[in-house]
Amino acid sequence: MIAFDLRCDQDHNFEAWFQDGEAFEAQKEKGLLTCPVCGSNNVRKTPSAVAVRTRSVGKDGDTSEAALNEMLNKIYTEVKKNTEDVGTAFAQEALKIHYGVAENRNIRGVATSEEEKTLKEEGISFMKIPVPEKTSTKGH
Ligand SMILES: [Zn+2]
Repeated sequence: MIAFDLRCDQDHNFEAWFQDGEAFEAQKEKGLLTCPVCGSNNVRKTPSAVAVRTRSVGKDGDTSEAALNEMLNKIYTEVKKNTEDVGTAFAQEALKIHYGVAENRNIRGVATSEEEKTLKEEGISFMKIPVPEKTSTKGH
């Protein structure tokens, strides 16, 4: 089972479980996916978070929301600059790097909760950062 974070065209976020990615696509095709808030069936999948594999993660003690946001933005900018975007192949690539099959580098991408579990079990360090809401456009 995979949990997907979904969003309707009215920007309602909700979570739904599917047997696999294809089940999601199939249900979407048939218009079976509806937003629990407004009933819209214009629903799409949103990556809930960007999973990032890093060598080290800096931390400071300030946990106020503004400071956290600022930190997050900084991290996100840094991460984008310093990592290779491997998209949904994140878990695969992280494992390859872990086992020395692929070049050791920092990567970013999206992972399902199942994949995250696997990575944790393999002892692979990564961090999840929320994708900033307003910059959802995928640019270069
Ligand atoms: Zn909705």
